[in-house]
Amino acid sequence: TSSPVSVTVTGAAGQIGYALLFRIASGQLLGADVPVRLRLLEIPQAVRAAEGTALELTDCAFPALAGVDVFDDPIKAFEGTSVALLVGARPRTKGMERGDLLEANGGIFKPQGAAINAGAADDIKVLVVGNPANTNALIAQSHAPDVPAERFTAMTRLDHNRALGQLALKLGVPVSSLSKVAIWGNHSASQYPDITHAVVDGKSVAEAINDQAWVADEFIPRVAKRGAEIIDVRGASSAASAASAAVDHVYNWVNGTPEGDWTSAAIPSDGSYGVPEGLISSFPVTSAGGKWEIVQGLEVDEFSRARIDASVAELGEEREAVRKLGLI
Ligand code: NDP
Repeated sequence: TSSPVSVTVTGAAGQIGYALLFRIASGQLLGADVPVRLRLLEIPQAVRAAEGTALELTDCAFPALAGVDVFDDPIKAFEGTSVALLVGARPRTKGMERGDLLEANGGIFKPQGAAINAGAADDIKVLVVGNPANTNALIAQSHAPDVPAERFTAMTRLDHNRALGQLALKLGVPVSSLSKVAIWGNHSASQYPDITHAVVDGKSVAEAINDQAWVADEFIPRVAKRGAEIIDVRGASSAASAASAAVDHVYNWVNGTPEGDWTSAAIPSDGSYGVPEGLISSFPVTSAGGKWEIVQGLEVDEFSRARIDASVAELGEEREAVRKLGLI
């Protein structure tokens, strides 16, 4: 077997971290035959809880787990790391202004970007999960000038998977019958889950459903607001599904996407589909050789155009806000 790959997880003692670490250690992030060395980053108050999780990881005796270390210093946590999963973030609390939220997250993602720049491995790949994920990724990226910009991504795979789940239920088919669903824009309520190119067993999903009102009034809002539905029903925010989507994102980034399909990820725009260059926006993407590519040449109808533009405008406003705060 090869030498271990270092993977850093921030917010390791949180809900998502707890669901994520065991999936990584069992070999599902990179491949069952790739040994992994976990580096957990937490704030000082949560280090002991992360150490407790490290004890449990040892107790699983995962063959692919080469070791676990816990840190409260980002410089040490990102040293030599090839995959960084940035989960820990400052959540919005009641009465908090957007500027305060962005400022608080700047205090987290600036030093993490700098630490990645200083010491991560040359092949570093970064996935931001902590919200506001797209803009947090932009902040980290702007403090890592020596790392290729496209190595900074944000997660919309959970939205993508939620869309697949809803379509499978509606059509009464297994998820494996579906392909070419897409999420565009921001990982927020403004996101656009797009089924116009989606295929079920070789046929158009839109034609199979044949109910535009369901798409516009039920499907899209349900996917976009699924996080709130989970909190309402479960009494706690989604954690295992978010962790699962993070595993899917990195697995496809490293190992490629299946022939004939695509997935969704927020990656730096090259100007495709009118999305301003540099915004970390969700697109339909494929991956090969460890690189994401935006799927080109898709027809964007009027309905889609308006929704993509609205979500991208929100991303532009967030970028402007963090610029004004001096965070990028
Ligand atoms: P979770 O593990 O539940 O969530 C972590 C982050 O993921 C939040 O920003 C959350 O955003 C976001 N998120 C993105 N997508 C989803 C989704 N679909 N469902 C739920 N959350 C999603 O939070 P906890 O509070 O349990 O744990 C956070 C941990 O991070 C704590 O242990 C804390 O100490 C740590 N932390 C570590 C830092 C560091 O390592 N430097 C910095 C800050 C915190 P949202 O709030 O919008 O749901």
